[in-house]
Amino acid sequence: MAEAVERRRVTVHGIVQGVGFRPFINRLATRYGLSGSVFNFTGGVTIEIEGPAPDLEAFLHDLRSEPPPVAVIEAVRVEEIAPTGQGDFVIVPSRETEGGPILVSPDLALCTDCARELLDPRDRRFRHPFINCTNCGPRFTLVRKVPYDRPNTSMSRFPMCPSCSAEYVDLSDRRYHAQPVACPQCGPTLHFVTPGALDKPVTGDGAILQAQALLAAGGILAAKGIGGFHLACDARSSAAVRRLRSRKGREEKPLAVMVASREAAEALCELSEDATFLLTSTRAPILLCPKRRPERLAAEVAPDSADYGLLLPYTPLHLLLFTEAPFDALVMTSGNLSDEPLCTGNGEALERLVGIADAFLVHDRDILVGCDDSVVRVSPQGPVLLRRARGYVPLPVRLAREQRCVLALGGQLKNTFCLTSGTNAFLSQHLGDLENARCLEYLERSVAHFWQILQVQPEALACDLHPDYLSTRYARELAETQGLPLLQVQHHHAHVAACAADNHHEGPFLGLACDGTGYGTDGTVWGCELLLCDGPHMERLGHLTRVPLAGGEAAVREPWRAAGAHLWACGMASESRWLRERLGAQVTDEQWEALGALLLHGVNCPLASSAGRLFDAAAAMIARRHRNAYEGQAAMALEALAATSTRPLKPRSAEEWLTGAESRSCLVLSPAPLLAAVIEGLQAGLPEAAVAAQFHEDFAQLLAAAALHICDRTGLEHVALSGGTFQNRLLLTRLCKLLTERGLKPLYHRSVPPNDGGISLGQAVVANALLRV
Ligand code: ZN
Ligand code: ZN
Ligand code: FE
Repeated sequence: MAEAVERRRVTVHGIVQGVGFRPFINRLATRYGLSGSVFNFTGGVTIEIEGPAPDLEAFLHDLRSEPPPVAVIEAVRVEEIAPTGQGDFVIVPSRETEGGPILVSPDLALCTDCARELLDPRDRRFRHPFINCTNCGPRFTLVRKVPYDRPNTSMSRFPMCPSCSAEYVDLSDRRYHAQPVACPQCGPTLHFVTPGALDKPVTGDGAILQAQALLAAGGILAAKGIGGFHLACDARSSAAVRRLRSRKGREEKPLAVMVASREAAEALCELSEDATFLLTSTRAPILLCPKRRPERLAAEVAPDSADYGLLLPYTPLHLLLFTEAPFDALVMTSGNLSDEPLCTGNGEALERLVGIADAFLVHDRDILVGCDDSVVRVSPQGPVLLRRARGYVPLPVRLAREQRCVLALGGQLKNTFCLTSGTNAFLSQHLGDLENARCLEYLERSVAHFWQILQVQPEALACDLHPDYLSTRYARELAETQGLPLLQVQHHHAHVAACAADNHHEGPFLGLACDGTGYGTDGTVWGCELLLCDGPHMERLGHLTRVPLAGGEAAVREPWRAAGAHLWACGMASESRWLRERLGAQVTDEQWEALGALLLHGVNCPLASSAGRLFDAAAAMIARRHRNAYEGQAAMALEALAATSTRPLKPRSAEEWLTGAESRSCLVLSPAPLLAAVIEGLQAGLPEAAVAAQFHEDFAQLLAAAALHICDRTGLEHVALSGGTFQNRLLLTRLCKLLTERGLKPLYHRSVPPNDGGISLGQAVVANALLRV
């Protein structure tokens, strides 16, 4: 007797488009002799499947247990429907329907199969710089709109040749429905051009050889990648790196280095298992890893840093550049001038990078939206994302509860924006600092692109409290033109709310923000805050002593000012002579006198309770750092110095530092005991590294004591740690341990950065809580 036939409708949500999901379903149906159909809809994939019940069960089991490598199945819904007697299995072309957000895949690093074909002289894509398949290649940066089909991508202008078409429609092929599929006959073309001879480009393989020759000779190459242009040069040539730095206007900030292979990476850095895993993953981020000593690259690559930022070749073009090349490490830094957004278009690059690059390696596949490389660091708490972009975006951050659709515009530095929908928070790629109109325009374009591929309509907007952030102004403008409510969220409230959301923590918590500066609810500058947070509510229960930012913005760029101001504010002005001697000629007598006058008269001295400035002050005192060429430079150097200390730390009882610190309901933490210990240690001739390590320890102790004090009083248990200062591994690790020992539950960032790149998520979550009231 024939088994009874049943039919099910299976709806799969997740990253299931453009990743070879439909052919996979077709293979499974064939495996069990089932009939039915599969089609993409805007929220995922729908399958109708018919056959005997045990075979249907086996099909569903395999669907969940062996999806294609880059698919992410988030939910599977199965309904019983009436059998139709269908005899075959078909793949139905994409259709647009309502329902659910669309998940477009991030851009994926070249897969091993494609890498092998690329270097195989017998393969028809031998040395084709645009080789890709369903398991790898660009996605996010070439999708114009959804559904993710070739006509909706920047590959629409390249009609497939007969061979590529045959692969594209062959269910058994690795390139079945790979939208960017291409070959030397039908794909994009590579050009090598020099500014002096724009009309004489070298194309094809010659372009790669020319680029290699230029790099080997110490030249600077602007190379078009997946999400924008890179500027590249030989990382072992001091002269080349110096030239790149001076032309780009980026004098000191560490530069990322692309290395030929994992082995080459291991020769430069110590790689943990986690680090190797991330480095070689399809996300292929820039990974910060500790340098081996003595350092092997040009000293100009990452001065003052204990780490190199390494990444592996993640496009076929990169791999070709390293094949049979006379170099094995290339600086690969974003193709832009300092303070400007990433270049994505050929014309734009030629115009803006002409003073920097000696030559350009370009192609005619358009980048529809810019997307920088992501930056990750491995810590004892797991990987910490410092910059979330290529390989991660547009994957959503999952939230614990349903959200209304809010568009949050983020902060000023390391800007990102965030769109919430259902239990998803779609965080944008890192867009950089919003310094000027060009950056703002880049933000607007990126918002429009996200809006287009997510197909959601925000019902409210959120932004920072700071009235002058470009993101705040843009949010106001959007609120007006779109007729939407605008909710402003305090900077550090957004920081800690992002951390809580990142940890799926619902309910009240103590937020501990350690940060540079942000606009406070009282109009003063905040930056080291203990905040009681409950849904939409936030109450400031503690902060560091307010110290004048002597000279305003100059105080952020010049840590010696922070050191002088801290001594002054902590009643230790008598030590300023010692500090002047210690910093020597780096700061002139006139500068010291001008600082004294500012402090005395309180002119251009906004008060700030900033953890970032406290670290600046300590870095000036201990490591003689007198200026920050980029955000956080002095603090990073201090952390690197502390990490080299081998001396045991002095035990502290920071509880006594809190005595008398409570004024009314708000705890004011004085850094005076910490700075006194720094001065004492240095004057006693202790090694600078030991003093730096003790400073980290003391600050962690002070924060832990304050958190415990507040949690005892309020009954809170969870402490959310956020803000740029928590990029400091030593501080984060030590504080987590201290809080845990005291019975508290520290929450730290996992999928979004602790720096300002994460605050758009916090804004969106707090705005949602406000909407629920
Ligand atoms: Zn591939
Ligand atoms: Zn072709
Ligand atoms: Fe911040």
